This record gives sequence, C-alpha cells and structure tokens, in this order.
Amino acid sequence: MSSTKPDNLIAIIDCNNFYVSCERIFNPKLFNKPTVVLSNNDGCVIARSQEVKELGIPMGIPIFKIQHLVEIHDIQVYSSNFSLYGDISRRIMQIIQAENPSVELYSIDEAFITLNPRYRDVESYCEDLKKRILQWTGIPVSIGVGKTKTLAKIANHLAKKLYPDKGVCILDEINTEELLQRVKVEDIWGVGRQKTKFLKLNGIFSALDLKRANPFWVQKHMTIISRHTVDELNGIPKIELEDDFVSKKTISTSRSFRKNISSLSVLENAVSSHAARAAEKLRTQKGYITSLGVYVSTNRFRDDLPQYRQFITVNFPLAINDTAGIIQAAIQGLHAIFIPELEYKKCGVILNNIIRDNQVQESLFHSRRNKEELLSSSIDTINKAYGLNTIKYAIQGSPESWSIKREKLSQSYTTNWNDLLSINLEP
Ligand SMILES: [Mg+2]
Repeated sequence: MSSTKPDNLIAIIDCNNFYVSCERIFNPKLFNKPTVVLSNNDGCVIARSQEVKELGIPMGIPIFKIQHLVEIHDIQVYSSNFSLYGDISRRIMQIIQAENPSVELYSIDEAFITLNPRYRDVESYCEDLKKRILQWTGIPVSIGVGKTKTLAKIANHLAKKLYPDKGVCILDEINTEELLQRVKVEDIWGVGRQKTKFLKLNGIFSALDLKRANPFWVQKHMTIISRHTVDELNGIPKIELEDDFVSKKTISTSRSFRKNISSLSVLENAVSSHAARAAEKLRTQKGYITSLGVYVSTNRFRDDLPQYRQFITVNFPLAINDTAGIIQAAIQGLHAIFIPELEYKKCGVILNNIIRDNQVQESLFHSRRNKEELLSSSIDTINKAYGLNTIKYAIQGSPESWSIKREKLSQSYTTNWNDLLSINLEP
C-alpha cells in the first residue's frame, strides 16, 4: 500500500487511552468496561476508555458532574497511579529504543522515530512493532507515518479513527491529499483554539485547505510557526526530531493540597518532599543546579479569604544535586516567603538552569559535596529497589497531612514489592 521512497519517514507511536490501558493490564475485568482515570485529588477525568468516549463524556470534565452517568453505565473510576504509568511507559520506550537509533520521547505515551524505507518495509515493521508492544507490555498502540512530524501526527489520528483494528496509517504520495481532506483543521498538531478560529474565518477548514494555503499569507497573518505547519503538511520537514533530548531543562514538582494549610511545619513537609522528588529526577538525568525556585499560593477561588502568591529564587555558590542540599535551600526559600495565618492551597519547587555533570565548575572556596552526593545516590538505589520514599529525610514528614486525595488508587504492580499482583489458586 505504501510507496517506498528513498527519503526518511517519521513515525509516531502513541499508546491508546494510555492510563486506562495501564489499569487494564493487571485488572482484566476492566476490559470492555467503560473506565476513567481522574486527575490529582480525584478531580477531573484525564483518561477515558473507548466506551466512555462513545458515551460522549468529554476530556477534563469534573467527576461530580457525571456522577449520574457513572451509576447508570457502571463506569469504573480510578485515581491516577503515576508510578504504574511511568514504569509501563519506560518499558514501552525501551522496546522502541532497542530497535531504533533515533527516538524522541515526546510524552509519557508518545515517541517519534525515523524510518528509512530503503532498509525496512515500513508498513510491516510498524505492524510488527505494534504487535510486539502489545504482547510484551499489554498496551495497545497506534502508529502514524508521514514525511514530517506534523504528517505523522495526522496519520496517527487517522489510524485511530479509520483503522482501529490495524492501528497503522501511512501517508504516502497517493493517499495524502484524500486523507487530509478528512482531517479538521483543529485536529492538526500545533493548531490551537485561536488559530482555528482565524483559519475558519478565512475559509480554511480541513488539513488539505491548510496544506494548499499560501505560506507567505500564513506567515504574514499568523506566525512563523504556522508557516512551518503549512510546510510540514507539504512534506517539507521544519520540526526536527529531538533525539538527543535526554534531559529536561526544567524540573517542576508541585501539588495542590486536599485542604487549605496554615501550619509552617506541614508546609515544610510538603516543600521538602517536592524538593526530594525533584532532586531524584535531577540525578536520573545527571543534572546539577546552581539555583532553585520555591513558591506558595493561597486558594485563588476563595475570594472571601486573603490572597497571596509568592515565588523566590535561592542561589548556591556551587552546583549541587544532592537531596540534603536541595531540601535545605528549598526550606530556606520557604521561610523567606511564608506569612503566618494565611490559608495555603499549593506549593512547589522548580529546578531551573539545569546543567550537565561535565559542565560543573570547580570553586576555590567551596568543595564539591562528594559525601552528600554519594549518600543521595545510595538512597536512589534503595528507593528504586524497594519503592518510592522507602528512605527519606525526617523533614518530609508523613504525606497524610498534605498529600492529595487518591481514594481509588490501583496498586503499584510493577514498582513495589508489596503491590505485586497476587492470584488465589484453589487446590
Ligand atoms: Mg495516547
């Protein structure tokens, strides 16, 4: 079906209904049952099974608004279990990386790869890869292929819509225009609500319309980014594959509290837990920081209460990455911005300006925290083997006082020995 051209093609592998699919791996009774996963604090729907999509329940809707539907259709409701989703994602990405030299991990459930049709029959490779991921992890994926990232994204959208069983769609010379006609302009990667409105006012409704639009007109009346979208729709690559994308430039950890919090010591627990988690993420990408940000904010929806939001940056004389040092700095920042007697709703820690270990500069006046770094890496090893927070700093306290509501949490089947799946066998 696909024409083979000497040029490289780009494929995107995207997990179907990822969070719901993860819940189903260890809980087969969920198969074919309408299932949703909720955001932090069990607030809104952030993942829906196909059955739920067919009921017309939109993404992002607060769960209390659809309580009646939950009862009528016996919808299965789960809190988000990110330790499970993160681990399953890691396994899927490993399968993809094992066979492909250039991979961009685009999100928790999506990866771009390049495929050279000269060395591979693209269509059968994609079908095999899809089967392998399903067999090895239990997660169904869809694969879209095109000459550019934008076309690959569209092909993926079409694979889900038009070929749900096969799960693969390749845009080639022959079928591209016909298929682009069936894609709405708002379903194109990078075209948001504002751009959609503008394009429709100017008679551009489908992906094919935008492909045929005058690129100079688009650049003049929209942005250079939109011009790139037009080029990409025409098969001219403008958005590169970021395959050396190993490290994030910013690491941010934050949570809203279940209840408002006024106590400094509880805020210290929360801030130091965020700092510890951020430090751990920093070390997995071999990063160091020379400053960090801390912020607190009150509940902006409670206009009957005094409002306050504050952010502070704490600088270090020398780049660090150990948990003790990062917690200490975060607490120092918290003390500087904390005002007593306010009701806080949220706090967070942000690591900015992350540098790689080989960019760390030595200092004449401060020695590197070798002992602390060694301790942190030992803690990482233990927590990796026995579960998150097996070892932690006392100031992190117990999360009951501040952590989020997760009443319908499934087990950490793959990352915690105590949560392994157990099966009862009758003798
Ligand atoms: Mg997905």
